[in-house]
Amino acid sequence: MPAQIIDGKAIAADVRNQVRLDIEQRISAGQRAPGLAVILVGANPASQVYVRKKREACDEAGLISKSFDLDENTDQQTLLDLIEDLNDDATIDGILVQLPLPDHIDSTLVLEAIHPDKDVDGFHPYNIGRLAQRMPVLRPCTPHGIIHMLETIGEKFKGRHAVVVGASNIVGRPMNLELLLAGATVTITHRFTKDLATHVADADILVVAVGKPGIVKGEWVKPGATVIDVGINRLPDGKLTGDVDYATAAERAAWITPVPGGVGPMTVAMLLRNTLQAAEKHGGL
Ligand code: NAP
Repeated sequence: MPAQIIDGKAIAADVRNQVRLDIEQRISAGQRAPGLAVILVGANPASQVYVRKKREACDEAGLISKSFDLDENTDQQTLLDLIEDLNDDATIDGILVQLPLPDHIDSTLVLEAIHPDKDVDGFHPYNIGRLAQRMPVLRPCTPHGIIHMLETIGEKFKGRHAVVVGASNIVGRPMNLELLLAGATVTITHRFTKDLATHVADADILVVAVGKPGIVKGEWVKPGATVIDVGINRLPDGKLTGDVDYATAAERAAWITPVPGGVGPMTVAMLLRNTLQAAEKHGGL
């Protein structure tokens, strides 16, 4: 039987709608709308699209988004000064710096300059450390969104083997921590892993985040597995595709995410939720 499709668009729309209702309630209780500062350095076309989507989603949910579009040649200190100002700005609850940054800027330094309470991407070592120690506060949006998707389809995690392909700071590593927190037994694979196929074949829950189309063959997928494809790759004909051979994987899996329309919308929805959470922690200043 072909896999059931996990409709990321619909699940994300529910999250966004709940955020909108919670914000309406805040405002009717006399509190201000949460504020998100979105910083974009340079003119990377993919980043421009992501940032536009995030800003539109903020408007729709009733968050105030403030845009800071900086020139490609902006020096690191100017960016750090802006972050310091935003850290001190009581109307800003969340600060997002769109990655990748130009090569002359040290991303680690910039991300660590964001106050952990305003780190709505959840990338600051404080927030990653909290997640690692089972006391999450602001959680990285893509992995948290995937957990929310899995919960929505009734995944119980405990006693299940989750395999994560890819070990980046943004997706693979925090995904590993999220799945562990949820109670799964987790294997994480990366560039130096031998025999990826054997690991994939043992996955009840498979999360793939590499950025290489077709790196996971459909015939490797365990029958009945849940397959989450995080990859977003643009083909020469302009179409988007994931990292998993979708057609063959969908013949074996029980559940699968499409690309586009799977994980992508969840990332934006969880960003809104994190910003609301950050605003609530500030006590509605
Ligand atoms: P990344 O920083 O380039 O990381 C890719 C990871 O894949 C690295 O950990 C790398 O290992 C690992 N890798 C490379 N070759 C491998 C192999 N042969 N076997 C197993 N692992 C291998 O990318 P990313 O930021 O995590 O993003 C991954 C993909 O997800 C991209 O397509 C990106 O566009 C997409 N993405 C989507 C969303 C969304 O919202 N849907 C969000 C974020 C990212 P090493 O660590 O050893 O180098």
